[in-house]
Amino acid sequence: MDHDVVIVGAGTAGCVLAARVSEDPACDVLLLEAGPDYPTPEQLPLDLADGSHLPSDRSSSHDWGLTSAAGRGTGVPPVPLPRGWVVGGSSAVNGTFALRGYPEDYDAWAAAGNDGWGFDQVLPVFCRLEDDLDLGDRRWHGQHGPVPIRRYPAEERSVVACTYLEAASRAGHPEVVDHNEPGAVGVGPLPVNTRDRLRMSAALTHLAPARGRPNLTVRGLAPVDRVEVDRGRVRGVRLVDGEVVGADRVVLAAGAYASPAVLLRSGIGPADDLRHLGIEPVVNLPGVGRALADHVLASVDVPVRPEPVARPNYQTMTTWRSDGSDGLPDLHLFACGPFETNRVGDGERLLPLVVGLLDPASRGRVQLSSADPTDPPRIDLGYLTEPRDAEPLLAGLHEARRILATEPLRSLVTGPEISPGPDVTDDASLRERLPGLVRTYHHPVGTCRMGTDPDDGAVVDPRGRLYGVDGLAVIDASIMPSIPRANTNLPTLMIAEHLADGLLAG
Ligand SMILES: Cc1cc2nc3c(=O)[nH]c(=O)nc-3n(C[C@H](O)[C@H](O)[C@H](O)COP(=O)(O)OP(=O)(O)OC[C@H]3O[C@@H](n4cnc5c(N)ncnc54)[C@H](O)[C@@H]3O)c2cc1C
Repeated sequence: MDHDVVIVGAGTAGCVLAARVSEDPACDVLLLEAGPDYPTPEQLPLDLADGSHLPSDRSSSHDWGLTSAAGRGTGVPPVPLPRGWVVGGSSAVNGTFALRGYPEDYDAWAAAGNDGWGFDQVLPVFCRLEDDLDLGDRRWHGQHGPVPIRRYPAEERSVVACTYLEAASRAGHPEVVDHNEPGAVGVGPLPVNTRDRLRMSAALTHLAPARGRPNLTVRGLAPVDRVEVDRGRVRGVRLVDGEVVGADRVVLAAGAYASPAVLLRSGIGPADDLRHLGIEPVVNLPGVGRALADHVLASVDVPVRPEPVARPNYQTMTTWRSDGSDGLPDLHLFACGPFETNRVGDGERLLPLVVGLLDPASRGRVQLSSADPTDPPRIDLGYLTEPRDAEPLLAGLHEARRILATEPLRSLVTGPEISPGPDVTDDASLRERLPGLVRTYHHPVGTCRMGTDPDDGAVVDPRGRLYGVDGLAVIDASIMPSIPRANTNLPTLMIAEHLADGLLAG
């Protein structure tokens, strides 16, 4: 064999896995990444280094350029789906929101039969990952991990952030000091993984310190077509250019859109669909590509005065239960920007007050459009296919308007609402407009779902091992059995860190 372990995809999960598995000097590890590699922060293009903005808020230099299919019967148009195409993956292009979700999110994974994934088991892993620079001494935090986490202090806050925090609080949302305190609900500063505005991707926090090891090779610009399987055991991977790399074990960490696509091209997935594409089935695994879940966004956009000094775009967060019950929050509400855009007048900026649905019932699917690895997959997001998903989003848009109408935020606004617009006020007209307002919060999961029964859609077992092929694992956001009520980077780091021990054990 060329290598003991080949990891496909150097994103959030792949960087953690490469670093952890190569701790064993006897284990020869190859990390393959479709996009380019910039080993040091100094080599990073500015839009990837600058964690105070999303690269996709401008135009990202390192994106896969994916777009979803139009919604079936929902009126949702094709939605752009940014994904990092670079060593670091989506952690190298993301908004740096560093949230864990709620204990119940992980207890639900365990209750579904996934032993080892309850909150009590994953909390020590979250703690091990982080260095919480503000609140590290609290018992639910860590201070010695590789991922720095902080909240912008008052002197670094934008006017938008200061006025939003005050307005949301006056509108009745309880103040939260630490959104990662188990059970915290309300408004407070957003925890972010940046250091001096540098986006601390997994390439910097995990891969960089491991790069000098002689048993670890990182290859950028090496897209993988498929996995090579022979008599029920993985033998290696085939790159898009036809090169075959032998391996004793292969771990797919290509993310929620690409990991199922690699499996499908390898003949692993729903057998009938594969035959339809001219691919000989190797393992009939009906769950591959199914159960795609994503947080959906919509926003109320208003024109505001420009900031006197440029500040990071993402600084605040409110968690909120939209039906007024004391159940778990089902929405994120946050102000961001303000942004320069031609949608506002001269001397104005655009402030979106964003509403993110945390527990969507709708599910989508990833399929191949062809067996050609250079064709993008067909991504059906399934947004709003469950009509009940509309209710919290509508309530959230009303709440966003209520916060915008509360001082001191109200005084920042310079003109009439731009979207959904001053004439779209009642539930009926908002509901009608909703399909055109939704977009992604960038958190696809579930397309290679972890579980105990492959006939019931499970693709990997609770240790990430693929059902039906020895030596093949999937470890990334795609294995989440349900979507946590949080942005998915920290949960994905946690998954990789949690499962790396099992990989080391063999
Ligand atoms: C624009 C954006 C903003 C986001 N903001 C936040 C945020 O603020 N906070 C948060 O918590 N989460 C955020 N997320 C989500 C978070 O970054 C992801 O959930 C997380 O990075 C997923 O990790 P992953 O390892 O599953 O996939 P990725 O990090 O996407 O890694 C997959 C890697 O595999 C590579 N790859 C794909 N196909 C192949 C192939 N065939 N061969 C070789 N390599 C391949 C890709 O290029 C990529 O490097 C954001 C995501 C995006 C895109």
